[in-house]
Formats: sequence, structure tokens, C-alpha cells
Amino acid sequence: MWLGASAPSGTLLKNHEKVVLIDPANTITGEAVQRLQQLDIFLITHEHTDHFSSSAAIAIQSRTAAIVVVNLGSFNALSGSIPSDKLVKMTSGNSQVLSGIGITAIASIHPNCVQPLTYILTFSDFSVFHGSDSGFNSALNGYKGKATLAMVPTDGASPTASPENALQMVKALDPTDVIPMHGSTDSNNWLGTLLAQQMPNAQYLIPQPTSSLLVDEMSGIGFVTVLACVTTFFLLARDRRRE
Ligand SMILES: [Zn+2]
Repeated sequence: MWLGASAPSGTLLKNHEKVVLIDPANTITGEAVQRLQQLDIFLITHEHTDHFSSSAAIAIQSRTAAIVVVNLGSFNALSGSIPSDKLVKMTSGNSQVLSGIGITAIASIHPNCVQPLTYILTFSDFSVFHGSDSGFNSALNGYKGKATLAMVPTDGASPTASPENALQMVKALDPTDVIPMHGSTDSNNWLGTLLAQQMPNAQYLIPQPTSSLLVDEMSGIGFVTVLACVTTFFLLARDRRRE
């Protein structure tokens, strides 16, 4: 899932039928693009370079024909370069079903970009919140129970993300499982301490850079594979497919 330090919130998610990519920045280029066999939805939270590369986004969409879901700033960068029927601009509070996946956009609290977003994705058997590198938005209080897995940013050069903001996100959403992203080891560990004290029922899993995490062993979630590298991802996805 976690695509590494150059895309600190880059995420690849899969269940038994859908593949979704979020904020890969420029981690998937060249040969790696050719290995993308299936991609249904490609989401971008905002146009900062550690989340978004227009050239990589265009190459990935061209290869996969994925639907690209974007905030306004990324839309402005991609409009005219991706087929208009494949480029979907979302704004805060907006919900749509695309390729069978429910997508809700909620404003990110984050500077120097145009209408940045976080997303809740609802698959047939699980739901995921992706917090980009946002600070806490009190609007999340309206989405309690809407995400079984929350991926929350803990800092990572974001002026708005912190373990305390991430804790507020988890408290608002009340997910079963929590994964930190976009943060240092110290910040990730501090969030773990805060959760153990204040949200002890939330299962907390820390992914390691460039390693993989199989989330299908988490309670309440069907088949989700979270990996660092596209090649490994598809090998493992095949091996782990449910009998
Ligand atoms: Zn940013």
C-alpha cells in the first residue's frame, strides 16, 4: 500500500475485484507503468509534488484507462491531457459511485493548494479513509462509522498533519483499524501511544517503507492488500486471492 518516502501517502488498494491507487506522485513511472494490469480508480488529493505528478498521472491513465478523481488544483493541471469522460473533479461534501466504488470527498485542511481533499472509499466489503496530509477537519465528525480502515497522516513535512490531528480523525471516524502514513517513525509511534490510551479498540498497524502489509488479516475487513511496489503487489495479490 505505502509507496515509499517520495510519495508518503501513496497507496495501492485492492479487494477481490477492484484496484485503486491514491497519490502515487512519481513513484510509478516507465517500466512500472507497464506492469499495471488493472486500475479502476486513480485518486489525487492535491497537487503538491509529494502526492502528484502530472506526467506520471497521464502515463498511468493512458496505460490503464482508469477513472481519475481529483481536487480542483489537480484538475486544472490535467484538464485537456486526460479524456474528459475519465477525469472527475470532486469538491468537499460531494459523493459519487464510480466503477462500483462509493467515493466521498471531504475538504483537507492544508495550505498552498487549490481545494485539497481527503477521501472515503466504500468497496463492497470494506471502506477506507485516506487523510492525505491534512489537519483535522471537524466535518469528519459527520462520517462516524463510515470507514472501517483509517489511513491518517502524522507529519512528514506537512504543516498541518500531526499525531494529535490524526488522533482526532480516528476519534471522529471510529474505524476498526488504523494505519499511519506521511510521518516519521517517532510521530507514528506517538500516534500509537495516543491511540492505546484513548482509542484502545482500534487496531494499529505501522507499515514499513518499501515493505508490504497484508490487511486482509485485520478484523472486519475482507481482502485488502497494501503494498509498496507494483510488481510485488500483483504477485502477492495473485497468491493471496481467496480460495
Ligand atoms: Zn501537501
